Amino acid sequence: MSYRATLIPGDGIGPEVVAAAVRVLSAAGVDFQWETEAAGAAAIPEHGTALPDRVLESIRRNGVALKGPTETPVGTGHRSVNVELRKRLDLYANLRPVQTLPGVKSRYDGVDLIVVRENTEDLYSGLEHVVVPGVVESIKIITEKASTRIARYAFEYARTHGRKRITAVHKANIMKLSDGLFLDCCRAVAKDHPELTYDEMIVDNTCMQLVLDPTRFDVLLLENLYGDIVSDLCAGFIGGLGLAPGANIGEHGAVFEAVHGSAPDIAGRNLANPIAIILSGAMLLDHLGEHAAADHVRDAVHGVLREGKKLTHDLGGKAGTSEIAEAIAAKL
Ligand code: NAD
Repeated sequence: MSYRATLIPGDGIGPEVVAAAVRVLSAAGVDFQWETEAAGAAAIPEHGTALPDRVLESIRRNGVALKGPTETPVGTGHRSVNVELRKRLDLYANLRPVQTLPGVKSRYDGVDLIVVRENTEDLYSGLEHVVVPGVVESIKIITEKASTRIARYAFEYARTHGRKRITAVHKANIMKLSDGLFLDCCRAVAKDHPELTYDEMIVDNTCMQLVLDPTRFDVLLLENLYGDIVSDLCAGFIGGLGLAPGANIGEHGAVFEAVHGSAPDIAGRNLANPIAIILSGAMLLDHLGEHAAADHVRDAVHGVLREGKKLTHDLGGKAGTSEIAEAIAAKL
C-alpha cells in the first residue's frame, strides 16, 4: 500500500534529520509519496509567512505529516509555527513516549512512561498585552471541552496500550479555577475508567518525584505548559533530546515530530542525532496501522544502539546523521 504524506523539513537540523527518517522509512518497505512543504523560518523568504496555507491544506488532504523542528524567534518575530499548526489543525493531543533505550548510558534504567500533553490552549493561547508600560498580562485559557477531550484521550490510550495508572499533573493549589477545572474534568473521565488507577500530583512535586525515580510513573496527563516542560525533563531520563519522539494528534490529522527543536548550535554539520525523528516515524507507521513495519524500525534502532559502534556525538560517538540513518536502514 502507498501513503501520501506531508513532509516538512523545517529549520536548523530539521532537513538533515528528516532526510534520515525518510531514508529509514523507505527501507522499512512502506511506500510513501511525500509532499514536501516549507514551514518555519525556511518558508519566509519564498512565502512571506512561516506557516503558508498550503502546508495546512497539504496536511488536511493527506491526514498525516512528518515534521522537522521549526525555529521560533525569542521575544519578537513570527509566532510559533508549532503552536499555530496544532491550533489550526486542532491537533489536541501531544503524545510523547519516554522509554529507556538499549545500550544508551543514562542515569536511570527501566523508564517507560507516556507524557500526554494538551496541545491547544493554556498559556499558549498567545493572548498577551501591555496593561500599562511595565506591566504585561498573559492569559491562560483552560476550557472544560479541551480538558475533557485530552483526559479522554489519555485514558483511552492507557486502556488500549496496557497502561495501568494515570497521574494528572497540576498547580490547582495556586490556580484554583483554571487548574481546578482541568482536574474536575480529569476526575469525571476517571470515573468512567475504574479499571485504571487515577491520581493527581502538583507539578513541582512531580518534577522532584520524577528526578528521584521516573520508573514510578506510567501515564502523565498535563496541560500545555507543564507538558512542554515535563517532556523535556523526561527526555533527559533516556539520554536526551536526540532520542525522544512525539506525535500531535487530532480528529482529522496527525503530525509526527521529535520533542527537540532546530538545534541551531549544531545545524548543517551532520552532527544531529536522527533517532528521535526516526522513532517519530515509527509512531507514524503505527498510526497508519503499519504495526509490523513500526516494530521493525524500532528493532533496527535498538540494534544500532545496542551495538554502540555507530553513535552521534550527543551519545559520545563520532558518527554523522546520515551514517546513523544508513546503519539503521541496513538492519531493515
Ligand atoms: P533544541 O531542542 O533545539 O536544542 C537544545 C539542545 O539539545 C541543544 O544543545 C541542541 O544541540 C541539542 N539537540 C537538540 N536536538 C538534538 C539532536 N537531534 N541531536 C543532538 N543534539 C540535539 O532547543 P532550543 O535550543 O531551546 O531551541 C532552538 C529552536 O528550536 C528555537 O527556535 C525553538 O523555538 C525551536 N523549537 C522547535 C520545536 C519544534 O519545532 N517542535 C521544539 C522545541 C524548540
